[in-house]
Formats: sequence, C-alpha cells, structure tokens
Amino acid sequence: MTQQQLMVNATIAHGLDVIGDRWALLILRDAFLGCTRFEAFRQQSGISKATLTRRLDALIAEGVLQKKAYAANRYDYVLSQKGKRLFASSLLAWQWENQWCKQEPTYPLPPKLEHVNCQHTLEPEAVCSHCNLPIKLNQIQLPLQALNASQQIDAMQSLTKQRRVRSTEKPVAVNESLATISDLIGDRWTLLTLICAFFGVKRYDDFLLHLHIATNILTQRLNHLVEVKVLERKPYQENPVRMEYLLTEKGRSLFTIVMSLRQWVCMEYQVTSELIEPAHKPCGRPLRIEIQCKHCKTAATTKDVTFL
Ligand SMILES: [Zn+2]
Ligand SMILES: [Zn+2]
Repeated sequence: MTQQQLMVNATIAHGLDVIGDRWALLILRDAFLGCTRFEAFRQQSGISKATLTRRLDALIAEGVLQKKAYAANRYDYVLSQKGKRLFASSLLAWQWENQWCKQEPTYPLPPKLEHVNCQHTLEPEAVCSHCNLPIKLNQIQLPLQALNASQQIDAMQSLTKQRRVRSTEKPVAVNESLATISDLIGDRWTLLTLICAFFGVKRYDDFLLHLHIATNILTQRLNHLVEVKVLERKPYQENPVRMEYLLTEKGRSLFTIVMSLRQWVCMEYQVTSELIEPAHKPCGRPLRIEIQCKHCKTAATTKDVTFL
C-alpha cells in the first residue's frame, strides 16, 4: 500500500465511519428489507431508542437516509439515491451472511431473493464491469510491492488519531450471526487487518509493520478473525514453530463486499483521482464491480430484486 492507497483506505474508513458502524449497517440492511418506521427498525435489530435515534440522524446527515412525514410528527425513514447505491454491497453482505452464518438457529434474514427480470431465485454474482467475468481475489492485482512502511506509519497515525475506538463496544441485543458482517467491516482495525490480508500480508510482524498497530490490538484482531474462521493459522516453519495467517474461503469471499463498499465511497466522495487502482488481471482494467443475476446474467438492481 502506498500512501495514496492508504489515504484511499482512510477515505473508505471515512465512509465506514458513517455506514460501517455496526448499528448503521444493521439499519441499512433493514432499510433494504423494507423497514421505514422507527419501531420497525427497533424491533428488527434490538437497538435501543437512543442509539437508533443517533444512528438515524447520522445516516440522514450523511444523505444516506431521508426523513418523510407520513402524519403529524410521524416519519418514514427511506433510502436516498445515495443510500440506494449501497444496494450492491448490501446484497453481497446478505449473500455472505446467508452462506456463512446459516447455522445460527435464530437467523432472521430472508433466505431468498427473487430476480424479477427472470423470475428465478437470485444468486448475486459480483462481476467485472469491463469484461463481465466473476471477481476472484487471485485475479486482482494489488501492488503489495509498493508498500512503504514509513509513509504508511505517518498516514496511519494521522488517520487513527481522529478515530474513536470501537474495540470495547459490544453488541447487546444483537444476534451473533447478525453482527458478523458488521463486526468485521464495522471495526476499523479488523477491516484494515483484513485489507492487509487481501494485499497478501500473512505474518504477524508484517501486519505489525504495515498497520503500525499496538501488539495487543493486532493480536486481538487476528485472534478474532481466526475465531470467526476468516483467517486460519498455519505453521510455515518448525523449530521454532512460526505461524502465518491465511485467508480462508470465508475470508476471501469478503473481498467483493469490501471492494464494493470502497467503490461506493470512492464514487460518492469523489476520490477517484487520488487512487492507485487494484486491477482486474483478465482484462487489465481498473477493478469495477457490478452485481448480476447468476441465472440470466443481467444486472440486479433495487428495482428488480424482491425479498421472498
Ligand atoms: Zn475485467
Ligand atoms: Zn435473473
């Protein structure tokens, strides 16, 4: 990661400060599921009234939600155009949670979506918008060789000073499976650790170098990622035994979600000129993700997807 890329990550983090907050992600998901009323959001996510009020206000301030009066002093909270453009990320997050968190007995997400265009069950597929091939992590060029630790340290330090620490924030009334995706993406250090892993970082000392993170925080995040089976620990040397952290399939499949969030942030906050782009190797073009229906191979948008 060069400094520029780090700044891009910082920008992603900026967007995520609003939408990546664990509660905000839950609210957004419920908005895509059709919730519009305060009470409905509250019941769906088990969020407290005060927290819900704050998060709704933040999402309105960011222009992701809009408030519309349906009676005197009564409001619907609906997705704005900007909010609706988060559909791809939400869809991928829904798919990821359905695939990887199914074993939870009280799983509350709708199990199926329908693609209105072809009337088949929707299996969303993230494809390259240039060559239409499915996105695979091993076909993305992420220039790890451009890593410059000292630049990063500077960038990271200025970045982290402004951040509030979320490490102690624990969900209260949220079902574990519900919290999974927002846990991973909604926590700054977990997300940056994950991004490093996407860039090919495997060893503890390299994470430390690239993230310039306190050892206890790094250990905690790596342990958490291993616990939720996003990373796995494997020995790369014996005598003395040394371990590295490798992405599992579950971890690799988070890539398109993170990248599609990144795409949204870059577009909405107009930072495209600053970035060094990850490239899609099969076509050599900068990575642009589009969601299509696996069955009919046409785009899946808010208009033509329904929750069954
Ligand atoms: Zn391509
Ligand atoms: Zn279709």
